[in-house]
Amino acid sequence: MSTDGIKVYKFGGASVKSAEAFRNAARIVKTHGGERQLLLVVSAMGKTTNALEQAMDLAYRQQDFEPEYQRIKAYHEEVLAELFPAPDNPARQRVAQLFEVLHSTLQHTSPHASYDMAYDQAVSYGELISSALLHHFLQDQGLANAWVDSREYIKTDSTWREARLDWPLTERLIKRDLPPLLRQQLVVTQGFLGGTGEGLTTTLGREGSDFSAAIFAYCLDAAEMCIWKDVEGLLNADPKHFPDTVCYPEISFQETVEMAYYGASVIHPKTIKPLANKQIPLYVKSFLNPEGRGTKICDCRFDKIAPAYIIKENQCLISFSVKDFTFVSEKNLGTIFKALADLRIKMNLMQNSAISFSICADFHQERLQRLIQTLSDQFIIHYNTGLTLYTVKNYDAASLARVMDGKEVLLEQRTRNTCQIVTR
Ligand code: ASP
Ligand code: MG
Repeated sequence: MSTDGIKVYKFGGASVKSAEAFRNAARIVKTHGGERQLLLVVSAMGKTTNALEQAMDLAYRQQDFEPEYQRIKAYHEEVLAELFPAPDNPARQRVAQLFEVLHSTLQHTSPHASYDMAYDQAVSYGELISSALLHHFLQDQGLANAWVDSREYIKTDSTWREARLDWPLTERLIKRDLPPLLRQQLVVTQGFLGGTGEGLTTTLGREGSDFSAAIFAYCLDAAEMCIWKDVEGLLNADPKHFPDTVCYPEISFQETVEMAYYGASVIHPKTIKPLANKQIPLYVKSFLNPEGRGTKICDCRFDKIAPAYIIKENQCLISFSVKDFTFVSEKNLGTIFKALADLRIKMNLMQNSAISFSICADFHQERLQRLIQTLSDQFIIHYNTGLTLYTVKNYDAASLARVMDGKEVLLEQRTRNTCQIVTR
């Protein structure tokens, strides 16, 4: 293999959702992986993570998880039978084993343990299984590869479901073992997963496989990373809401981070920082059209780019005013911020006026009630729910007219580049 740097590919759930999808992924590895040293990070197949969440939830509540478990198993077995018709293919045994361990993990899920810890132990099987399938399938296609357990490399604390990385240790382990391995063959590993010092499994947060790939890319000083998705590249809006989306051919790390921050579900928000720190370009490409240009996210600058539309639904607008009609002081704001942080209410927008302070936040009934309980003796609190927050980056008159059209605007805030509007 050549030595012109390492590439990291991330295959998301949709890119490995069926036997045909696996064949397509293998073709991409063959034609586009080229002569490079290539590390593949794979998500759970299709919507497996959602299904595992349900099975786990039932198991935790000591209810019958069997039907859900069987559904997950049947789905994988169908793909397995198509990819590995011979009953004695080692892939079949490997996957059967993993299902057995998953079953016993579910069986032993105790309602006395922490829910989030139990979640990580069970839900992680989606990636363990999909990566085993990919490993064996590529092997059968003549693409020699090593299956690597990412829990032995992505080292984290035990913040279950949102594990925090031990960067120095992770980097040391990856640097020690993976470059020599990559010089000899492809490496297949799991997204989303980490491991604690005690050998327990953690996860990095939903959709965290992008972040996993970026961690590997960073630690390996990769030449580039590519996310294979079911869209053309990085789009300026969600096609579900905007029929005429455009795909950015090239966009800066900064723009992308900001889009993720405002809630665009393009790339996991933590993905960009490690790549930007090492100037590793990130490509977003379509596995349905691998020859397409896709998007290159890198350290670049453009004066004018197409406006990006980001929609957050199910928002609430909460306003606080001081009971004695004095101004909202820094001290009052401190009290409000502390309560928001304690209740993990995520603020998407804030605005201060003479006697009131307003925030737009994701709506959680229970957290909102607790916020009101906590603060109602100091503030008069009003709120509206069922709202939508539009963020338009790089806005112009036409793009604003488009999102405001026919809507009641409850709050609007503009900076030079970004306009946010809360509507009913
Ligand atoms: N399988 C996990 C999820 O669906 C992680 C990922 O796909 O990025 O959230
Ligand atoms: Mg997924």
